Amino acid sequence: MDICFSDEHEAFRDEVRAFLNDALTDELREAARFCPGIFLDYEHNMLWHRILYAQGWVAPSWPAEYGGTGWDLARRYIWSTEATLAGAPSTAPMGLGMCGPMLIGHGTLRQKDYYLPRILSGEDYWCQGYSEPGSGSDLASLKLKASVDGTDLILNGTKIWTTHAHYANRMFALVRTDDSGKPQQGITFLLLEMDTPGVSVEPIVFASGTHEVNQVFFDDVRVPRANVVGKENDGWSVAKYLLEFERGGGGSAAHQTALKRVRALAATVDAGGLPLAQDEAFKRRLDETEVQLQAVQYTEFRIMAALSKGQNPGPESSIMKEFGASIGQRITELAVEAMGYHINPHQPEARTVGQNIAPVGPEAGVVAFPRYFNLRALSIAGGTNEVQKNIVAKLVLGL
Ligand SMILES: Cc1cc2nc3c(=O)[nH]c(=O)nc-3n(C[C@H](O)[C@H](O)[C@H](O)COP(=O)(O)OP(=O)(O)OC[C@H]3O[C@@H](n4cnc5c(N)ncnc54)[C@H](O)[C@@H]3O)c2cc1C
Repeated sequence: MDICFSDEHEAFRDEVRAFLNDALTDELREAARFCPGIFLDYEHNMLWHRILYAQGWVAPSWPAEYGGTGWDLARRYIWSTEATLAGAPSTAPMGLGMCGPMLIGHGTLRQKDYYLPRILSGEDYWCQGYSEPGSGSDLASLKLKASVDGTDLILNGTKIWTTHAHYANRMFALVRTDDSGKPQQGITFLLLEMDTPGVSVEPIVFASGTHEVNQVFFDDVRVPRANVVGKENDGWSVAKYLLEFERGGGGSAAHQTALKRVRALAATVDAGGLPLAQDEAFKRRLDETEVQLQAVQYTEFRIMAALSKGQNPGPESSIMKEFGASIGQRITELAVEAMGYHINPHQPEARTVGQNIAPVGPEAGVVAFPRYFNLRALSIAGGTNEVQKNIVAKLVLGL
């Protein structure tokens, strides 16, 4: 496999670096560095989103005809790698990475014309209403009831673990319009506004102290049937299409950056007269993780090769999801270990952007423990590791 980039792509890399150098303010870099989990705070997320929108680069994976960059796969890879290595924040995936591609694939012309520009501009902020209490891995068992009433559907029930529902003005949801057949039948894919009467959002706060997810309740919520994507009772095919994009995210560069930070931290920690980074046992674990990260990177290249032939991400996205989650968690474990007893102080104020509060111990410590807790969710959200392994066993290994 030839993994060299062409001169044209290397020139693009220079363009990306120059843009990042200009656009990334200290505030944005700090927001990314202090991010205690996977999701950046809403304010900085939108700040970065608008800068990218003004540059025309907010939707790297969308076709140009829908307002995306129209970049080929190599450009997208270069962009996401360079942005991460430069310490740029990430953008929220629910609109740009999930709802947008789903609408491009399955939306009506009217839905595309209305929603896609609003996702690009940041006017709409989406959340994903799939999971319910008792329906996560077994998503097809979902129960949120949608009864037909003339031109409307009336929703009653609940969604749970809904990331950023407290910021979102819109939700894409799976609802039950028929329960007479197989569980996968009778599910409908629906778009709704979060300020519709009868919708209420209750926070769920993590052990890390951060508020990212919620439970959303629906009490006689009226939604026009024109907001259905695809056909009524056939939402399962739309949902599955979207999940491939949710899981195909990859992102070895983010892990590389995190691992680099742990190495730098370990170089400053004393381990019995030697820097921890030179302690044989710790160094071996850092190096093993680095090798595994290279394997992730080559899997990313393999997926790129498949995509460049016009295929969808396929079951490889499950390999990436499982592998990426495990490595991400391992890196947070190494960070916690490197911090030693400095991991104990709980200092959320020291990781507030623009503050001048000195951290107790190394600066990395103010996010190491919250990140450790937060990234436990990596192997659950978007489909658990066990479920990804089942998919790989069935579709790749033929077991
Ligand atoms: C931080 C976070 C953010 C999230 N954000 C969203 C969101 O925005 N929108 C949304 O809709 N959902 C969201 N989720 C929900 C997420 O998709 C579910 O938590 C996930 O699908 C697992 O479902 P569950 O929690 O019901 O666990 P369960 O499905 O009950 O699983 C419990 C355990 O059983 C195992 N298990 C289940 N079935 C099998 C099987 N067939 N074979 C082997 N093992 C199995 C699982 O691997 C797991 O270890 C989020 C979750 C988290 C943690």
